[in-house]
Amino acid sequence: MLSAAQLLDELMGRDRNLAPDEKRSNVRWDHESVCKHYLCGFCPAELFTNTRSDLVGPCEKIHDENLRKQYEKSSRYMKVGFERDFLRYLQSLLAEVERRIRRGHARLALAQNQQASGAAGPTGKNEEKIQVLTEKIEGLLQQIEELGSEGKVEEAQGMMKLVEQLKDEREQLKSTTSTIESFAAQEKQMEVCEVCGAFLIVGDAQSRIDDHLMGKQHMGYAKIKSTVEELKDKLRKRTEEPDRDDKLKKEREEREKEREREREEREKKRRKEEEEREKEREKEKERERERERRRRSHSRSRHSSRTSDRRHSRSRDRKRSRSRDRDRKRSSFLWHSSQAKIDQLRIWNYSLHVLECFILSSCPPAKASGLGL
Ligand SMILES: [Zn+2]
Ligand SMILES: [Zn+2]
Repeated sequence: MLSAAQLLDELMGRDRNLAPDEKRSNVRWDHESVCKHYLCGFCPAELFTNTRSDLVGPCEKIHDENLRKQYEKSSRYMKVGFERDFLRYLQSLLAEVERRIRRGHARLALAQNQQASGAAGPTGKNEEKIQVLTEKIEGLLQQIEELGSEGKVEEAQGMMKLVEQLKDEREQLKSTTSTIESFAAQEKQMEVCEVCGAFLIVGDAQSRIDDHLMGKQHMGYAKIKSTVEELKDKLRKRTEEPDRDDKLKKEREEREKEREREREEREKKRRKEEEEREKEREKEKERERERERRRRSHSRSRHSSRTSDRRHSRSRDRKRSRSRDRDRKRSSFLWHSSQAKIDQLRIWNYSLHVLECFILSSCPPAKASGLGL
């Protein structure tokens, strides 16, 4: 049963007593009052309320959807160990139900053995023991009565304790017998649910099977089982991811080092070339200085030789130019002489024509020639 406070929490929220402006503002997802299991998915305490598996009792911590969203968005999501704790807790619940399933199988096997071998099984032995115990107890009670009548109170009290012990022993034997007998009495084939450990009747009505499958206990353990698998997967991926990041980081560093080496290599080469060039320049300067020294020491002789050179070259130029003039004049003369011959021919031609016209006296002389002379 829910307490009055829990009932009010469910109806009005846990901060029902706070003023509207101070609601939840001071509670962060990592506050100790917040249920960390709920942040990771759900609170197992809520799975089995009011069932036989309700061993943990209600969870008093805050279950808030908004806080869960805040946690999932935070940079510390899956980094503070909540998921590992949640997984460990769910696994402990699973281990518990697995023990129950094993016990159930053992009890079923025992009951089936007894059915097969009739009453000669452990049940028969138990009944014999119970009979013996009952006889002992009755004998002791008779003795106590006698001691009481004799006034031996202390002895009677000591014996009474023994009777109580024997009675307890007899009760235990009776209860185990009755459990197994009730199984056998049903004369029905039983089986153990492999999810929640409950006893089921083989070939039961579908409605009862459905009731079981939709029941809080069965659903709760089914949820725990699937969540354990999901969580394992999630955590495995989480642990693999940093590995991958590390690998990428190492590769990046390796590439960076390689580039650095190449840069150094290039720089070395460049410096070497620079030194070579510098040496070359030095040599050139040295040669220049040497030439300068030589020029100074042979300055005069060099001057005279240069002027004679110049004179010589000038005469050569003149010769070249004269030969060109000669060529030009020669071709011009040829042209003029041939032109003169043509003119002479024209004059002769005209003279002949004039003579002809004079003889024949038929046409004007200039018009017929067409030469424009
Ligand atoms: Zn909780
Ligand atoms: Zn079940």
